[in-house]
Amino acid sequence: MTAADDIKITKVKNSKLAELDANNLPFGKYFTDHMLEVNYKNGEWGQLEIKPYQPISIDPACAAIHYGQSIFEGIKAYKNEEGETFIFRPIDNFTRFNISAERMKMPHVPEDIFMEGMRQLVKIDEEWIPHRPDHSLYIRPFMFATDNVIGVKPGSSYKFLIILSPTGPYYSAPMRIYVEQKYVRAVRGGVGFAKNAGNYGASMYATEEAKRKGYDQVLWTDAFEHKYVQECGTMNVFFIMNNKAVTPALEDTILAGVTRASVIQLIEDMGIEVEERLINIDEITAAYKNGQLSEVFGTGTAATISMVKELCYNDFVMTFETEKWKIAPQVGRTLNDIKEGKAEDKYGWLWKV
Ligand code: PMP
Repeated sequence: MTAADDIKITKVKNSKLAELDANNLPFGKYFTDHMLEVNYKNGEWGQLEIKPYQPISIDPACAAIHYGQSIFEGIKAYKNEEGETFIFRPIDNFTRFNISAERMKMPHVPEDIFMEGMRQLVKIDEEWIPHRPDHSLYIRPFMFATDNVIGVKPGSSYKFLIILSPTGPYYSAPMRIYVEQKYVRAVRGGVGFAKNAGNYGASMYATEEAKRKGYDQVLWTDAFEHKYVQECGTMNVFFIMNNKAVTPALEDTILAGVTRASVIQLIEDMGIEVEERLINIDEITAAYKNGQLSEVFGTGTAATISMVKELCYNDFVMTFETEKWKIAPQVGRTLNDIKEGKAEDKYGWLWKV
């Protein structure tokens, strides 16, 4: 018997679903009736529980608040036209979650707890998945240290939870992007490849500075020369130049996006060569000047694809007519059609709940 065979389930008496306005579902604002919770102590995972969504009580000395041992994932579930529920590539997120756990010196979450726990939670709150085009259920697994000790050392107790948030269409208008050369997101040997909470807290200052200058997001560059592009905000980044798709190679400064991997596959299927390598910003400006830089876009679970209409490097501004683009819109459409069951799932990316 595994932990997931013995989930203690307590259902809500009255669902909040009737109060939900399906026409107004901003990202991450509303949560479903239930959540999954399990505690780790003395080297073991305890009883898995699915229970009514509720606040969790933590001690003021809770280690995660002080020293940041806290990681998360972002996954989406969809309903197809027959009303069946599928989750998009959740095994990849499960694998990445434990890569983050390892780097943050936290325990691995066993596959049956993560996957079966998620399946049963999503099943219980299945009615919350908006059955409308471009809508989904955002799944947020997370884990943090719960030791009540102020001392800088890895925790010995942890909480793993999953919460669910119904979301409407996350349309990302074409973005204005500022190439960041002062602040950095990640350094070699650091934690950029992990999805730990601190990476996001650390990025906010630079992002707000860019917004103050009139941009939507930053394009992060490397910590030493500020020349090699890494990611675009909280998305991986692709450039269509010289008729190829080019994206930064995965290294420890870059989060291995599930959308990135899917987009690489779909672009290759279109017969376009994909290069994963170091990309110098000077190469990008040179390609732009030669008329060889045709598209720039970010990829991620929240928006799938976000096109870049303006890219500013020092005083050099590159502008794009995104409405004329071919590749990013087509890839975005295909990926969303696969997720919603409107196109063939050739790669087995959908996981039935
Ligand atoms: N980079 C960062 C820093 C992110 O937070 C995300 C969102 N998880 C991504 C890239 C895109 O990853 P994915 O396609 O798996 O959502």
